[in-house]
Amino acid sequence: MSDNKTHRITLIPGDGIGPEVTQAVLRILEGTGARFEWERYLAGAEAFEIHGEYIPAALYESIARNRVALKGPVTTPIGGGFKSINVTLRKKFDLFANFRPVRALPGLDSKWPGVDLIIVRENTEGEYVGLEHEVVPGVVESIKVISEKGSTRIARFAFDYARKHGRKKIHSIHKANIMKLSDGLFLRCARNVAEEFPDIQYGEHLIDNTCMQLVMNPFQYDTLLLENLYGDIVSDLCAGLVGGLGLVPGANLGTECAIFEAVHGSAPDIAGKNLANPTALLQSAILMLRHLDEIAAADRVQAALEKVYTARQSLTRDVGGSAGTSEFADAVLAAMS
Ligand code: ATP
Repeated sequence: MSDNKTHRITLIPGDGIGPEVTQAVLRILEGTGARFEWERYLAGAEAFEIHGEYIPAALYESIARNRVALKGPVTTPIGGGFKSINVTLRKKFDLFANFRPVRALPGLDSKWPGVDLIIVRENTEGEYVGLEHEVVPGVVESIKVISEKGSTRIARFAFDYARKHGRKKIHSIHKANIMKLSDGLFLRCARNVAEEFPDIQYGEHLIDNTCMQLVMNPFQYDTLLLENLYGDIVSDLCAGLVGGLGLVPGANLGTECAIFEAVHGSAPDIAGKNLANPTALLQSAILMLRHLDEIAAADRVQAALEKVYTARQSLTRDVGGSAGTSEFADAVLAAMS
């Protein structure tokens, strides 16, 4: 552990299943021996009801001060309403890299045991810039923004990560046969960066073909480099390869701040029923522990998590078990002691 320092972390439990999975993860983190002081904030519809703001100013200040946040899912209204809280925070803190390791946990009956993929998703551009308008009634324009700066820095992030962590291969995923300028620029930037990394194999695949290839044989890929929207969709597909959305973690990384959150959303269909799998947020918290240099604590939680999955006891319903969110957390805690 890093000299028993207390880490002050911004905590956004979120809504839907957010509070349940956050509660489970906090209990496990407290059991690691690492020390935390949590600054807890509401965001989204609940925050608006109480503070009159979807993202209270104090939340922005807390993240800017602490530089690290752990975040549960916050519901984004469909087809109208307020802007996504996730997208707003990523933009505000320029969290340009969305890092999502997709690994099959031992003992789990997933479609593809042994899968070990890294998804690197550009997190601030593409269709997510939210520039949409009605040109004339019945016709809407949506603008996709791809920049040389944004594409180059995310490509460099992917290659730097690959080199540092012994990953062998990166594929840029695109649709540059149709989006000739935007995806064409993304590819050009990736190719330029790839030239600086002759030790890492580089390939390019069309997004539609990639989806089919991933389902047929995910082992042909190692690290996937994608624009924002492609990364969003392919992340859910890859989650399906290893057992579902309850498992896959994520980190939103910038040069100043980092926000750790699961790939999944607020899952309103199972909210408040003690059914949600906290593994995805727990694995996001493990990424956070590594980011904080709490390596022993991270290894301890990881080992306990793998022990629980290998024993196939106390697993939640989404992965074939019958335990609730809190019983699963109890099992991880027991495996840590
Ligand atoms: P968003 O677009 O907000 O990210 P989404 O489309 O990814 O959301 P989710 O809210 O993540 O949708 O839910 C998709 C499905 O996955 C739902 O049936 C939900 O119950 C299930 N699911 C998501 N997260 C979990 C979890 N942690 N445990 C169990 N099931 C989950």
